[in-house]
Amino acid sequence: MRITEIYKSIQGESSFTGLPCVFVRTTGCDLRCRWCDSEFTFSGGTLMTLEEIIHQVNGYGCDLVELTGGEPLLQPDIYELAQHLCDAGKTVLIETGGHRDISKLDARVIRIMDLKCPASGECERNLWQNLAHLRPSDEVKFVIANRGDYEWARDTIREHGLEGRVKTLISTAYGLVTPREVVEWMLEDELRARFQLQAHKYIWPPDARGV
Ligand code: SF4
Repeated sequence: MRITEIYKSIQGESSFTGLPCVFVRTTGCDLRCRWCDSEFTFSGGTLMTLEEIIHQVNGYGCDLVELTGGEPLLQPDIYELAQHLCDAGKTVLIETGGHRDISKLDARVIRIMDLKCPASGECERNLWQNLAHLRPSDEVKFVIANRGDYEWARDTIREHGLEGRVKTLISTAYGLVTPREVVEWMLEDELRARFQLQAHKYIWPPDARGV
């Protein structure tokens, strides 16, 4: 597998925020979100065998592991890696852009799936069939860059009945809209979703790597 970095940090997003976590960040993404903060993953990386990755992950002695990218579902071996980590007793999260089929992942993996809002420029790529595969343990994330994105997220959550079915996460595109604006919109609409800040961007500089 082509890997950009493996490191231990604090989980900055999702309902696992604040917990120690080992991140396996794969190289390559087939989307180009306008506000992407992970462009460094688009190229480069190091080829590693599954054994090397698992060995490095185990070395951190941490039970929570996140597979992220780039787009981890671009890597053919991601399914086997996830299965090995689950077999080893890890809680395995995967962060995916929501444009690739999530159904083939081991059933123990917790999927944190984006639905790309219009201002990302990648809204047309959302793979809507994925919604049928979601389980209550999964999380669906909307990154909001402006009021139009918020309204699209709100309507999508309600039209697809996501409020009671999965954990729904509302994030801001860093620096494009204020957390306060988005929270006020959510309260006004009584939207049952979890607002989240990207905690790591408040702990370390927003462009820091490997944290
Ligand atoms: S899916 Fe993620 S890594 Fe890919 S372009 Fe969008 S934000 Fe960047």
